[in-house]
Amino acid sequence: MTEWNSATTPDLTGKVIVVTGGSRGMGLAMAKGAHAAGATVIVLARDSARLATVVAEAEAAGARVQAIAADLADDAMRDDAFAQIIADHGRIDGLVNNAGVTKVAPSIDYALADLRRILEVNVTAVFACSQAAARAMPEGGSIVNTASLSSFIGQPERAAYVASKTAVLGLTRALAVEWGERGIRVNAIAPGYIETDLTGDLLRRGVLDRGAIEGRTPVRRFGRSDDVVGATLFLLSDASSFISGATLSIDGGWLANGYFR
Ligand code: NAP
Repeated sequence: MTEWNSATTPDLTGKVIVVTGGSRGMGLAMAKGAHAAGATVIVLARDSARLATVVAEAEAAGARVQAIAADLADDAMRDDAFAQIIADHGRIDGLVNNAGVTKVAPSIDYALADLRRILEVNVTAVFACSQAAARAMPEGGSIVNTASLSSFIGQPERAAYVASKTAVLGLTRALAVEWGERGIRVNAIAPGYIETDLTGDLLRRGVLDRGAIEGRTPVRRFGRSDDVVGATLFLLSDASSFISGATLSIDGGWLANGYFR
């Protein structure tokens, strides 16, 4: 029962939380937030030099994070990474499936190898990481998938990404329904336009138009990686213990806005 002095803000004390793609952008912000909320945090990404920098920066700030280099689309590397986490910590209380990739190009000439790679990282790896984590997840476990605006709308030259992020919502609902009785909740966040390496590259190349995006966004700005942290920690924590199969948009109102002038 809620008491006057009981905490309902996200508290991850004692929880083991894995963040895929936790070496930069939103994943790094989530990892920092989870650490600040009391969790033992493990980040996964491919670039080991970048991961070493993350560990060193955390240590310099008096924090501790474990980093494991793995391409999550590679079955053997992914299995080894999760085996190491379970050997080191014994269980996984929370998983954020945040690693994701995109490529923007006309569908008429889109290379099938690129489509397959995007589906491998954004869909197959999300399922496989969820499986690996769920096998080691006690009751009360939580999985948070990073979906996107692209889960709800069509966008030109992004068919592979749109298909992958739409699939993430399907996985979120299906696994939530199947694993509820195991005491595992599965939810998604759907970020709008957030300034990271991924969008920075698209902005630089003129694929994205900052003015047009900010003009359509009711709060009139790009998102920042820190903007997704609160919702992610909430969904990981017991504060959301009756929420499963849900998707929370974090887009400054972009999706809600059907008004143009
Ligand atoms: P980002 O800055 O490009 O970071 C992506 C992260 O994923 C990095 O840590 C990257 O590390 C890791 N990664 C990529 N491929 C991987 C693989 N095969 N195995 C393991 N790690 C891998 O991207 P972001 O903008 O923060 O995006 C994070 C998530 O949010 C993605 O799923 C993206 O689709 C989604 N999203 C982004 C936006 C946005 O506006 N930025 C909006 C909606 C949704 P390595 O390169 O070292 O592997």
